[in-house]
Amino acid sequence: MGEADLHCHTTASDGTFSPEELVALAARIGLKVIAVTDHDSVEGVAPAQAAGERLGIEVIPGVEINTDVPGAEVHILGYFVDHSNAELIEATSRLREGRVGRAKRMAEALTAMGAPVDFRRILEIAGEGAVGRPHVAKALLEAGHVTSSSEAFSRYIGRDGPAYVERQKFTAAQACALLRRAGGVPVLAHPVHYDRYGAIKGALDLDSALPALKTEGLMGIEAYYPRYDAITIEYLLGLARRHGLLVTGGSDFHGGRPNEPDPGSVHVPMKAVRRLRAAWEQVQA
Ligand code: AMP
Ligand code: FE
Ligand code: FE
Ligand code: ZN
Repeated sequence: MGEADLHCHTTASDGTFSPEELVALAARIGLKVIAVTDHDSVEGVAPAQAAGERLGIEVIPGVEINTDVPGAEVHILGYFVDHSNAELIEATSRLREGRVGRAKRMAEALTAMGAPVDFRRILEIAGEGAVGRPHVAKALLEAGHVTSSSEAFSRYIGRDGPAYVERQKFTAAQACALLRRAGGVPVLAHPVHYDRYGAIKGALDLDSALPALKTEGLMGIEAYYPRYDAITIEYLLGLARRHGLLVTGGSDFHGGRPNEPDPGSVHVPMKAVRRLRAAWEQVQA
């Protein structure tokens, strides 16, 4: 069991726990530090930090910006961002607004293909949070068109699914630059996936993509992640060394998904947290 978890979602995006509930859970588990990293939103940061102060657990302000590159999905985490930064607030609200129109188009596409879902219901499910495909999946489940959220992704709204609609164009480079301007440390989230034979498969050709992203301000990659085996972690640690990047990690906790790892279930060395903080202090100076 680790002491740190640098990747957690709340109701500010597609998590099921409110910021307060997430922090309470983390404290109960015995974590010392967590980062709140909601998709396209920093709205969960302040309430989580207030709860963290009450419960004696450090909450690192964060965000996860979902970007679209052709044929792949690239998520950029930002740590220690100034969550009151006007440009960051502006940009993330615009991304969230774009998500509303996109959810509407997904609802229309689903309705056209015989799996009608009510757009307003999707928004209701998302509540105050950044609306995303997990909310569409819930609506599909509720309407009885699928029997699980993962079926919703595999049949309809996965990257190659018939009802998939891209998010507003925002590139990984733009995300890195934005996060740096907001005083944050940009980190490439879950850099690899596995193919169906279990081989490591990158969404990007990492050895060629990382130097370019580094130029835009990227400072680290996520190396500790649920389901990443020892070989994958070694590969990512090596990649980080080669490219002079930090490593981070976390459970990507959303709450309430079947078989989901708990916060802290991915071991993140405290040394990595210290290095992250030191790097942030250096870019502030
Ligand atoms: P969005 O940003 O709206 O495109 O949604 C992306 C989010 O959907 C990811 O961050 C995950 O939380 C979730 N997600 C993506 N693929 C799957 C999948 N195959 N099964 C369940 N959840 C997924
Ligand atoms: Fe998510
Ligand atoms: Fe992600
Ligand atoms: Zn995430």
